[in-house]
Amino acid sequence: MALAWKQTAAEYDALYMQGFNVARMHVDRALRDGRKRLAVISDLDDTVLDTRDYWRGIVADGVPLFDDARWDTWVATNRATATPGAIEFFTFCRDAGVEVFYITNRDQGEKTLELALGNMVAAGLPFADAEHLTVLRETSDKEPRQRQLAQSRDVVVYLGDNLNDFSRAYYVTDPASRRARLAVDREAFGRKFILFPNPTDGHWVRAIFGDSEPPPTPENLSKLHQAAGR
Ligand SMILES: [Mg+2]
Repeated sequence: MALAWKQTAAEYDALYMQGFNVARMHVDRALRDGRKRLAVISDLDDTVLDTRDYWRGIVADGVPLFDDARWDTWVATNRATATPGAIEFFTFCRDAGVEVFYITNRDQGEKTLELALGNMVAAGLPFADAEHLTVLRETSDKEPRQRQLAQSRDVVVYLGDNLNDFSRAYYVTDPASRRARLAVDREAFGRKFILFPNPTDGHWVRAIFGDSEPPPTPENLSKLHQAAGR
């Protein structure tokens, strides 16, 4: 159902449009307020890059869960497109003098940066250059780089499809702890943090399986059913 929704639901597209509209509202206000050295910090996959083509292949070939080797092969094909509203929002930022920085924790080895930039260029995203893209191959902790950027820029909004894109506190291995943390950040959603939908992958998966990319063992498939109900 999650994949059918991603592939067909206009609601999926609308949620991206909504997210970018909200982000633009905040950038507009920051510009009107005369704030300087404005920046937006964004995640890459499933925030500004639409990965549905990868998932279509997964379903077509009957692969039960996310498959890392297939992902690495797919990344190199440059078939990612921009998510709905991404190009418009980032073009608006560029034209208004607002810098966009991307941070990803992809890992395709030595070529990770080059491959990611290739995807961004193919998708038509502004700021597709090494100065504006940070690749974190060794860790998925984005906070140090975010803090570093925030020292010299006024970051208006953070964009992501994974709560770990906003705070490392969500990188925990149980769903209840992730939910509990929302009490701390609730005022930030739709203000500082703009969240996009992703019902197929992310650290919510890690909270269930203890692994963001669990192998499709009988035990894990059983856990999947338990997570969905019983
Ligand atoms: Mg992502």
